[in-house]
Amino acid sequence: MISETSVMTRGLILARRLNLSLSADEQKRRRKDYNLRKRYGITLEQFESILAAQGNVCAVCKQGNKVFCLDHNHKTLKVRGILCLNCNLRVVGGARDDDSKIINAALYVQRNPADLVYPDGLYLVANPPKKRRKKRATTRKRK
Ligand SMILES: [Zn+2]
Repeated sequence: MISETSVMTRGLILARRLNLSLSADEQKRRRKDYNLRKRYGITLEQFESILAAQGNVCAVCKQGNKVFCLDHNHKTLKVRGILCLNCNLRVVGGARDDDSKIINAALYVQRNPADLVYPDGLYLVANPPKKRRKKRATTRKRK
């Protein structure tokens, strides 16, 4: 027979395991801390101290209120800083740790090579998408 205290203890263990007594924010913080420790061996406190040193914005696009990622050099595993998801995946991640690609991309955006051929600029003609006709509700019978 299972005693009443045994059931209560099991309930408390389950509640603690599921973090039922914690607020949603605290559960989220603990999950993030757990993931950072498990994946990278750093604490949420360390992550937040770097983000605070950056002014709580992405180190590249300087925008706040984003999903932030820990950016690191993939060869040395040295932490570089905190980036938003977009900059981590597309800007810095797209260059695959090759800083010359990032510098070339910045120069490319500033000085467009098409201007060498078309000094006044070559512009695309904007073609707005055509509106699609609504399909009729009734179907025609084939003869
Ligand atoms: Zn960014």
